Amino acid sequence: MYSLVFVGIGVTLVIIICLVRFFLLRKPLKYADPNLVQTDLSDSSVSPNGVPSDPLDDPAFHRFRMALAMPTVTPEDKARTNPWLKRFQEFLVEEYPAFGKVAQANVVDDFAIWFKWPGKNEEKKPVLFIAHYDVVPVNEKAWTHDPFEAVLEEGYLYARGALDTKFTLVALMEAVEALAARGFQPDRDVYLAFGGDEERNGTRGAQVLANHFAEEGIRFSWLLDEGSVVADGSLKAARKPLALVALEEKGYVNLVLTVKQAPGHSSRPPGVQAGAVLGKALSAIGKRPLRPRLLPVMKRFFQGIVPLVDRPTGFILANLWLFWPLLHRVLGRNATLAALFRTTMAITIVKGGNTENVLPDQVQAVINCRILPGEHAHDVLEQVKKRIGDKRVAVDYHPDFLVDDPVSLFPGNPEIRDVKDPRDFPGWVPVKGAIERHFPGCPVLPFLNTALTDSRHYRSITDAILRFAPMKLSPREIDRIHGDDERISLENYYTGIAFYISLLENISDS
Ligand SMILES: [Zn+2]
Repeated sequence: MYSLVFVGIGVTLVIIICLVRFFLLRKPLKYADPNLVQTDLSDSSVSPNGVPSDPLDDPAFHRFRMALAMPTVTPEDKARTNPWLKRFQEFLVEEYPAFGKVAQANVVDDFAIWFKWPGKNEEKKPVLFIAHYDVVPVNEKAWTHDPFEAVLEEGYLYARGALDTKFTLVALMEAVEALAARGFQPDRDVYLAFGGDEERNGTRGAQVLANHFAEEGIRFSWLLDEGSVVADGSLKAARKPLALVALEEKGYVNLVLTVKQAPGHSSRPPGVQAGAVLGKALSAIGKRPLRPRLLPVMKRFFQGIVPLVDRPTGFILANLWLFWPLLHRVLGRNATLAALFRTTMAITIVKGGNTENVLPDQVQAVINCRILPGEHAHDVLEQVKKRIGDKRVAVDYHPDFLVDDPVSLFPGNPEIRDVKDPRDFPGWVPVKGAIERHFPGCPVLPFLNTALTDSRHYRSITDAILRFAPMKLSPREIDRIHGDDERISLENYYTGIAFYISLLENISDS
């Protein structure tokens, strides 16, 4: 009898807690609430939408086309370069004269260039903006237009690199040029650093730049790189475009599985074959994904969308403490969402012999893993070994690839896993303010970057990293990144310039 009463009291308490949390979170999240995080952008000199009536007469349009027309594909061979990389650097030095007067260009080599724009307050920690000017190769036949002609059609510029990421680089250059031309000086030192091999790992570009700054003893308050965008329609339930600012980034490791056997004639195969052993190991990996984990940053993201979704969904998201064990199973069916809360293991290469009537001496598979912040490459290696549980399968790091551990919220303090008040996160307030001005009505939410960016090379010399490119993209437009017919709207381009101007005018808020 008493036990029933206790169960009744317990259930009632859980319902009350859930309802209270739901109603509290129906108000905009502290991260996204303009009343809680005051960002006064009345100083901003630019209007929210600045597409000129005739862009063909606008120098900013022509410079963007010039940048897009350069085929800056970095060769895979580390001993080689591409003359267009040098040409791109010359373009930056020649085409932005007002900025060139206040900020000296420093060319390290074809893969690295940086600028320092001295600010008013030397004692404040500087801020760093980074981007890359190399692009991925193209499959020209699949393109409607020449990928390096930058054709303008119905308000879109078609070109490889339009989204990734000559857009952020050129929009930023336009912003600093416009500000410098009218005598503006930033509140603190502003550095711009551009790499020429992000698509080849950033070891010749970003890593060299970061090492240089480290040697000079320069430490940044925060840095802004590409990564997330204003996602339009990616999460239909939210009914609004979401400005996602990635504050953490997943790591990267390639594991190689090897099974050896005695080579021989295929007419006398052994009872247990290497291919079959490897197949069983791959099946074990496919069947048992790694443990799901809700990162604090993703918890804050889910809390932030409570006011945007319908009531039942909001009720569940407001109470992840109760519903998470169930919810992750539902979300896990969607590959994009699943990648946000677990280390993923993708089987990318499977290879054995190359003659149909010869037993190979070994078969191999490569597992490309994306590591969730808070975990390490060696954890993944151990977990994969455990899942396979077969000594005949050797599991090791792939010798040809570097291991990148994840980048957590505060790279210098990885033990701090959460940030309750976003004002404590360097750069959040001015970045959010500039987003709110130029993407009105889009909630600004913290997020996780599941891919790699150049910013990871700077982790030891910055207090915080924000990954956000100021452009509004639908999932179909996002698919064009590294794909065919990559393009950017002029509206995004000009909004991007205005965004960087507002941001640079307000970096004193950070
Ligand atoms: Zn990129």
